[in-house]
Amino acid sequence: MRRVRIHPKLFLIVIWLAALAAAQSKTPVQESGKRIVIRASTVLDGKGTVLHDTRIVVEGSKIVAIDPKAGPVDYDLRGLTVLPGWIDAHVHIAWSFGKDGKNGGDEGTPQEAAYRVASNAWVTLMAGFTTVQSVGSPRDVSLRDSIAQGLLPGPRILSAVEPLLGRGEQTGTPDEIRAYIRKQKEAGADLIKIIASGGMRQGGMTMSQEQLNAACDEGRKQGLRTLVHAYREAVHAAALAGCTQVEHGLGATDDDLKLMADKGTYFDPQAGLLIETYLLYKEKYVGTPYYPKTLEGFASMEQILPMNRELIRRAVRIPGLKIVFGTDAVAGAHGRNAEEFIDRVRDAGVDPMAAMISANSLGAEALGMANQIGSIAPGLEADIIALDGDPLKDITAVRRVAFVMKGGIVYKNTARNAIPAYAGVQP
Ligand SMILES: [Zn+2]
Repeated sequence: MRRVRIHPKLFLIVIWLAALAAAQSKTPVQESGKRIVIRASTVLDGKGTVLHDTRIVVEGSKIVAIDPKAGPVDYDLRGLTVLPGWIDAHVHIAWSFGKDGKNGGDEGTPQEAAYRVASNAWVTLMAGFTTVQSVGSPRDVSLRDSIAQGLLPGPRILSAVEPLLGRGEQTGTPDEIRAYIRKQKEAGADLIKIIASGGMRQGGMTMSQEQLNAACDEGRKQGLRTLVHAYREAVHAAALAGCTQVEHGLGATDDDLKLMADKGTYFDPQAGLLIETYLLYKEKYVGTPYYPKTLEGFASMEQILPMNRELIRRAVRIPGLKIVFGTDAVAGAHGRNAEEFIDRVRDAGVDPMAAMISANSLGAEALGMANQIGSIAPGLEADIIALDGDPLKDITAVRRVAFVMKGGIVYKNTARNAIPAYAGVQP
């Protein structure tokens, strides 16, 4: 096969055109500070208030005013439900299906892995998630930085870099654990992820109370929040240790949930998307590390769904317990994060407004970013999405994301009748 040769001069022109295109696509709004007015008939402000017939004024990356008289209107979102971009507190943005179609974690050549994580970021943003917390792969660090620099479209990413994996005695002495936490900070961690117990169904704590105390205390000293993968007795231990947030939490008793409420520990349980993803893609997961070796082995996962729902049903009844929105999105779940809202509301007794707040102002508060994101208010980042439908009346509206703005940049503005069932989904 003959290779096509490009004349050197032509090659230069191509490079120049590419550079020009890159320069033009590089966040012109942010740079010029242009004023944008969004007109809306219904706005959920992210904190539980519904505003009617108003206009949101954006300048540069920020919301500067809510003013019903502002004009001229740049985006008319009347008929849609406008709300702050969602926050997913727990994703594995780097995890994808590999070349062979099987669950591949974050494996592959650096190029393959890079394109896959970029794709995960894109579909997540298109699904209305403007901020995600990525907890489990150092590969998300360069993705986080590329998105922050405006090189790639994607949600704002907070990374845990490398998690602290509890391995009993081998986890280390309290001093060694403290040194490990500091090492993650030096590597650019925005938070610390700690795996303090076995899996969904079985396995005790993989760290002692003393080890967990050291990890969460050092996190606090370093100004880093601590997220703890915890089941059963590890939930109680994490709350006692003063860790910031408990993930998953199956096996938690009402007393454990009350302790979290007393301690102000955020709770991030999963109602369904994770297990639904495993069941939907069982052919891709079967036989890969940590997953059942046979398709029949996946049947037992279905039993976990009612257990998760029962846990959330109990959790929503605990006064003062702060339940945030986290999906644990793995390969096959990126871009479908909003399904977890449907699971929570339809199956687990969560009030639709509470579900929205959990991924808006409360989610932002849990990240320590309430003064930057999670609400539609002057001074906050212009992370604004719009749904074709009212999620308070029909929670499946979360699948129909028609408009996505992040930091004042519009990434999606779809014709309403052209919206697919899923806002962003990989084939
Ligand atoms: Zn996870």
